Amino acid sequence: MPALPGKSPHEMKVFSPSNTDMVQATLLRRAPWVLPGRGPVIEDGAVLVRGRTIEAVGRYADIARIAAAGTRTIDHPDQALIPGLVNAHTHLEWSGLAGRIPLPQNGFPAWLQAFNRERAGLSGCDRAAAVAAGRRALIEAGTAACADVGCTLEPFEPDRSAHPDAAPDAATPPTAEACPELFLFEVLGFNQTDLHRVAPLERLAAHPPAASGGPMMSLAAHGCYSTSAALIAQAKAWTRMRGLPFSIHVAEHREELELLQTGTGFFRDFLESLGRWVPTWTPPATSPVGLLDSLGVLDSRTLLVHAVHLSAADWDLVARRDCKVCFCPRSNAAINVGRPDLAAALERGIATALGTDSLASNQDLNLFREAARVLDAYPEIRSEQVLRMITVGGAVALGCEDHFGSLARGRSGHFPAVAVPARTAPKHLVETIIAQGAAGKWQWTRA
Ligand SMILES: [Zn+2]
Repeated sequence: MPALPGKSPHEMKVFSPSNTDMVQATLLRRAPWVLPGRGPVIEDGAVLVRGRTIEAVGRYADIARIAAAGTRTIDHPDQALIPGLVNAHTHLEWSGLAGRIPLPQNGFPAWLQAFNRERAGLSGCDRAAAVAAGRRALIEAGTAACADVGCTLEPFEPDRSAHPDAAPDAATPPTAEACPELFLFEVLGFNQTDLHRVAPLERLAAHPPAASGGPMMSLAAHGCYSTSAALIAQAKAWTRMRGLPFSIHVAEHREELELLQTGTGFFRDFLESLGRWVPTWTPPATSPVGLLDSLGVLDSRTLLVHAVHLSAADWDLVARRDCKVCFCPRSNAAINVGRPDLAAALERGIATALGTDSLASNQDLNLFREAARVLDAYPEIRSEQVLRMITVGGAVALGCEDHFGSLARGRSGHFPAVAVPARTAPKHLVETIIAQGAAGKWQWTRA
């Protein structure tokens, strides 16, 4: 999507090869159901699309009236038009580990050891190919935008001579409808205190702007048990200065809480075994959320990922600071770290998204299936809330709601049409859409 006039300089841009070959044809898409993301379901609805951008959404009778004479109408009988999905947390560089770590695992320490064993065998070439494969998987799952956390810029700066096989695929989005990307370089180092030593800040800042076809670049910190407080604070300051989103894994497992409370446990031993323990470090004796708040990290551009082990007081603080939260319930179940309390976030009005996490801890990168899992595992949460988490909730979490997450004027005109049986009762419509999406019964709308 090209930069739209009057938008923020920090808006999400499309990870797309070019906009010069955009088809500017205007189409009127009519469907028995249009779910705009914000606002109620529109029966006998329509979306007017010009090129790749939506011009209007509403009841068919109203939109047909404002469409220019001769505008082609495409009927979507027995389909629902929904916004493209927004996957708010993944690590595409680990896509090559699909099926290599037996799932479910018996807790985070066991999973981490298996993960470290498997990733040690990956080359830079493997990672670049994995990113390309991951992007294809996202598109095939109906994803319109994603946040990809990674430890290397290599897939974005392919060296064709070094990786002749991987480079073309990594450099070129797999289709003209590529999944736009917020790339968050992951800052890591319990015994490091200088951000310049652990993150390629100059390369990140100098990366071609997203408008030229690349991803939007920012920073993430790995977690409070793996990244020093100094690094977390510096990384957040770097992103804040640039108006960029920032993310961090928070309270994914109890071992994290144990280290912060007592300075002992699995991560103490693990860091010592790696030679990264800091003998002068004293545990803050607070929760991960409490620690991040004391560092001034919690604000509306901070995305907290996982949030499995939060107290009521933590949730209140997250709400007060207007942080965004991304849950990854299938990954949590696969690693066996616990069950996040989605209702605690929703009842406080916290902007909430879903992510698949990586293929090292999930079976696929399919957000429809993540949503279907939530419907199964959290009967107290309404299907409308779940659909919101994978569309507009994700877009709000990543700060790209001006382009993604809803069907509205100015948003992306590239979105899924989901097959819905004709006699579906309105009260079952949204859960049917999620189930059909998870079963692959949908397609991208195309000009
Ligand atoms: Zn993650």
